[in-house]
Amino acid sequence: MSTHELHENQHYIGGTWRESQGEIPIPVIDARTGVIMGNAPAGSVADLNAAVEAAVAAQPAWRALTPQQRGKHLRALADGLDDRREEIATVISREVGATYSLSYNVQAVVPSHSLRTAAAIAESYPFSEEIDNSIVVREPIGVVGAITAWNFPLHLVTVKAAYAMAAGNTVVVKPSEFAPLSARILAEVAIYAELPPGVLNIVFGTGPVVGEALVRNPAVGAVTFTGSTRAGKRISELAADQVKKVTLELGGKSPNIVLEDADFKAAVEFGVADCMVNNGQRCDALTRLLVPRSRVAEAESIVAAKVRELVVGDPLEEGVDVGPVISDIQWNRVQDLIQAGIDEGARIVVGGPGRPSLPEPLDSGYFVKPTVFGDVTPDMRIAQEEIFGPVLVIQAYDSESEAIDLANDTIYGLHACIWSDDEDHAMKVAGKVDAGLVKINDGPLNLLAPYGGYKQSGLGREYGRFGFEEFLEVKAITTTHNVRPWS
Ligand code: NAD
Repeated sequence: MSTHELHENQHYIGGTWRESQGEIPIPVIDARTGVIMGNAPAGSVADLNAAVEAAVAAQPAWRALTPQQRGKHLRALADGLDDRREEIATVISREVGATYSLSYNVQAVVPSHSLRTAAAIAESYPFSEEIDNSIVVREPIGVVGAITAWNFPLHLVTVKAAYAMAAGNTVVVKPSEFAPLSARILAEVAIYAELPPGVLNIVFGTGPVVGEALVRNPAVGAVTFTGSTRAGKRISELAADQVKKVTLELGGKSPNIVLEDADFKAAVEFGVADCMVNNGQRCDALTRLLVPRSRVAEAESIVAAKVRELVVGDPLEEGVDVGPVISDIQWNRVQDLIQAGIDEGARIVVGGPGRPSLPEPLDSGYFVKPTVFGDVTPDMRIAQEEIFGPVLVIQAYDSESEAIDLANDTIYGLHACIWSDDEDHAMKVAGKVDAGLVKINDGPLNLLAPYGGYKQSGLGREYGRFGFEEFLEVKAITTTHNVRPWS
């Protein structure tokens, strides 16, 4: 029996495996074939409450450790994850459909990087400062609840847990029920690395049962969530009842703005490649390509050539660029939006509805044809809604100010990319774009800079010092020293 089968109806609570009190486990589906590849518990409210109790019990001792002592534990987790990179990458490619190179080089690498980075930030962080006659201290919140999406399953769990733990909190995680298996590996690593019991707890199950119970539990001081804007709103509503702190990383519909003075071919090709990473299943994917109207035909021809080069197939095979989307639900959602694009009058440049032709057993997987739409107007669903599949829309603009208006014309504001050969020009445009993350040309993601969204893309930030501070309370202690008169 593999360790996955051994623990398939267990949660990681209080440093050990505990049998789920929920009903029948939830099957985990291999996105490549539609076949069941494992199970994870459908946890109950009782399971969740037991995990919160374990986290509450562990918090005083964890908080009392120095940042260096906590850092040692986090680095041991990072080492343990690094030892299991191949296994993590394979599981995630099968669950999510990510190509093996993305799974290995990003999905399985960023988690240990987050653990080490969070440890280092805590070790050098000024937890106390003086402001005139006040000593301002930053303290852990207590127990943090983390609820995560499926598209970068281990990264989303670890970026939250790492920073929360480094700050002295204990954590209860509810991973996505669609991609829970890498979180099980994290639990095995935590047991092996002897992380103190209760510091990290993982309860598997659905959002409406385990997720909502986590938000409602009064011993949970803050909730950090990554997922859809729909679920984020529900979590905010529930948390408001206890005025509980919430950090939300939600959806996006991010523009790739190609300015007149850009390296046009590089900008357009980059836009296609970015949109297709993880088969389009990325909150920050650049899913809208904004080009000058006079260059639409040129853009379409570059895009079509680039998309035709993409190899769709088994993500575990070398040379494959685009794997399946995660589930039949997601496949149907993507198809629904492709059809909506056609019905609303957009034109397919390449791709289209239906499955690409693939041999058995991939013919039962959730593959989507990489698709690009032209003649897209801002009122169309494909210009406004997050598709979360390999679908790009091209939007034409007549002036730079129209490009900015188009870029800002969605409910989202997570990411934007601006292409120009003149960095000052790009910076000026960056100042007018409503997004938490703005990339100039192909500048790589900086994992120390704050990450998060404007508008309905979220609340709060992750990564680096900004992300760390989300897990701290601020206390001002007023003293009788250094009193400065008010006037
Ligand atoms: P989802 O909202 O359906 O689920 C996310 C998590 O929330 C899951 O663990 C789910 O079980 C839980 N959940 C669902 N309903 C809940 C409820 N009522 N109460 C508590 N928990 C609940 O999202 P998904 O389909 O897993 O992921 C895709 C979405 O995530 C996309 O919208 C994507 O943009 C977003 N996302 C955002 C970021 C970011 O950093 N901004 C990163 C990755 C994914």
